[in-house]
Amino acid sequence: MFRVVLTISTLFVASIAFASVSTDAKTGSADSTAQNAPVVSTSPDTAASKVSGLTPLDGAQTDSTLSFIAVGDIMMGLNYPDDQPLLPPEEGVLIFKDVKPILQNAIITVGNLEGVLLDFGGLPKSCSNPKFCYTFRTPERYVKNLVDAGFDLLGVANNHSGDFGDTGRETTQKVLKEAGIGYAGFENSCESFILERGGVKYGFAAFSVNRGTLRVTDFEKARQVVSALSAEADIVIVNMHIGAEGQKFNHITRQTENFIGENRGNPYLFARTVIDAGADLVFGHGPHVPRAMDLYKGRFIAYSLGNFATSTSVNITGVSGYAPMVKVVTDREGNFIEGEIISAIQRGQDGARRPLLDSTNACVKEIKRLTEKDIPEAPIIIHNDGKITLKGGGK
Ligand SMILES: [Zn+2]
Repeated sequence: MFRVVLTISTLFVASIAFASVSTDAKTGSADSTAQNAPVVSTSPDTAASKVSGLTPLDGAQTDSTLSFIAVGDIMMGLNYPDDQPLLPPEEGVLIFKDVKPILQNAIITVGNLEGVLLDFGGLPKSCSNPKFCYTFRTPERYVKNLVDAGFDLLGVANNHSGDFGDTGRETTQKVLKEAGIGYAGFENSCESFILERGGVKYGFAAFSVNRGTLRVTDFEKARQVVSALSAEADIVIVNMHIGAEGQKFNHITRQTENFIGENRGNPYLFARTVIDAGADLVFGHGPHVPRAMDLYKGRFIAYSLGNFATSTSVNITGVSGYAPMVKVVTDREGNFIEGEIISAIQRGQDGARRPLLDSTNACVKEIKRLTEKDIPEAPIIIHNDGKITLKGGGK
């Protein structure tokens, strides 16, 4: 794929053209053969019809609606330490195999790339406590798995994107750019991104608590970045890597969360801050477990989507293995119309840990329970089958 990036201050405006025919269901192979065509032209109904019948929400796709799929943390395997790599079988091609049709069943698919894409080198971070030290360096060629799965936008603002210093950050950006995947989250280098598709401009920004990334604790900067995106784009998507980690921290307290001596932000307040500044969809992750969902000013919030595809080194027992995908349908202004949680759980199969579709709907039950407990006034209902609708039918 070929990408032209125009830099306007720190705002990236990208027009994507296809140098080759893509088999991605989102792009529509028939109309993506032109060399250097200015933008991807994909109508919402085309994107949905390629994989029709997979989710009941397909019927909601019309020219007046937009669709999104979001997932949490992605870490596809480790090539570090050099003498002890922890890589999945078959170059990771199995990782997204089971969930790929779901991931491709929306116009925009977004996730959080935990760690760096880098083959060798980089300065590994030093840890004061080796017991809690994890450094995530994934082979560059594994980006192919992300492309094949259908990811359009990936946040790189998280606590592992600085694990290999500037070399890691720079190479990750280069690899994603060459692969045609949009990305955002590093301070001063890729603070935001705009992807144009089907005549709609989708703005994207990503925030975390970590040095080198846009911070969830810096509200002024967050407002600035999001309102600039909002002025430029039709829809603004925000990734937030925020909150304390682990199974004990699955609730929205509406307070600032502290974890291992760090301020890990206030997810409830941060989501509202960016929505007030113009964000239309807010997708959270970082706690490694699913959390509640919410709606504010008609805009959808997932506070944490947990671990999605962490092929090694991350605890996936119990709810830590829950790998929900959330599909959201909005109008062209970003107002929530309806959604759906699709349940997957990370398990080992074929020698690989990966998200597998879960017919017991465990993710749905968990997110429904947490939402009803933590945000009882949220104007959404999560149904047992995973559908998300507006309370009172939106009246
Ligand atoms: Zn993280």
